[in-house]
Amino acid sequence: ATVAQVAEWNGTGATSDGHRVKVYGNVGSPADAQAAADAGAEGVGLFRTEFCYLNASDEPSVAEQRAAYTAVLSPFRGKPVIVRTLDAGADKPLAFLSPEAEPNPALGVRGLRVAFDRPEVLDRQLEAIAGAATDSGADVSVMAPMVATVEEAAWFAERVRAAGIARAGVMIEIPAAALSAREILGVVDFVSVGTNDLAQYTFAADRQLGAVAKLNDPWQPGLLRLLKLIGDAAKATGKPAGVCGEAAADPRLALVLAGLGLTSLSMNAPAVRTVGASLAATTLAECEALAEAALATSDPAAARAAARP
Ligand code: PEP
Ligand code: MG
Repeated sequence: ATVAQVAEWNGTGATSDGHRVKVYGNVGSPADAQAAADAGAEGVGLFRTEFCYLNASDEPSVAEQRAAYTAVLSPFRGKPVIVRTLDAGADKPLAFLSPEAEPNPALGVRGLRVAFDRPEVLDRQLEAIAGAATDSGADVSVMAPMVATVEEAAWFAERVRAAGIARAGVMIEIPAAALSAREILGVVDFVSVGTNDLAQYTFAADRQLGAVAKLNDPWQPGLLRLLKLIGDAAKATGKPAGVCGEAAADPRLALVLAGLGLTSLSMNAPAVRTVGASLAATTLAECEALAEAALATSDPAAARAAARP
């Protein structure tokens, strides 16, 4: 987007012909949340709650969690926020949750998998999130990280509803979940794609390893084809499907994602206005044409070139 376009964004995420694509912020602390609100984010698409506890040796109490989450959500009173339950393990180990050394931590007991053995930890977190929703006045949804199957999604949604939280969703970060997006949307209220992990697992390429970074390029046509399945599932079910991985912060890829049928984009604060302006300068039909052109390519450079205006 040009500087002129940035100046033009009116703060409501939409294409130039009015197709809504919500522009949200990714946050992990009160400072991040304030920055996202100041940047004009319409809400929070990803609150990484584990960031609050990277240095904690013991599980925080419900009251402590409630206060910590309220501090993050307060700038978004009356606005939609998606709180992600603890994504412990692999690149973000938590001392009180992460298992002893595993041979392949990224393929181990991480994310929602931790909760299958210790559901009481999840239930305490959900109780704290429900309390923070009341205290902050934010319109809270909850989602789980690292969901592989429809059965896991249904299990999580049931616990969220039992906690009195209105909307339950799951992240799509595992190729099997992308391939079952439609069925997963049958048991939850929304999905959100974590493109960082979805790329890592699709290309079998560690997201932390520079040597394989080329494979984790979000313009890889193989990843775009999985994203299309998720956009199609959103259209078929009429339920929201967002993107909250780094891919959403690329103003040109954001157009492709909108064209594929994704309904919200969530990113770090500095990208909010640029992505909002990029959408506002493009029609939905143009986004769809860019998506189709990118999908028809065979490598990331060609996909980038095809998605030029
Ligand atoms: C992702 O995997 O894309 C994501 C948004 O989650 P995180 O980066 O926290 O794993
Ligand atoms: Mg992830």
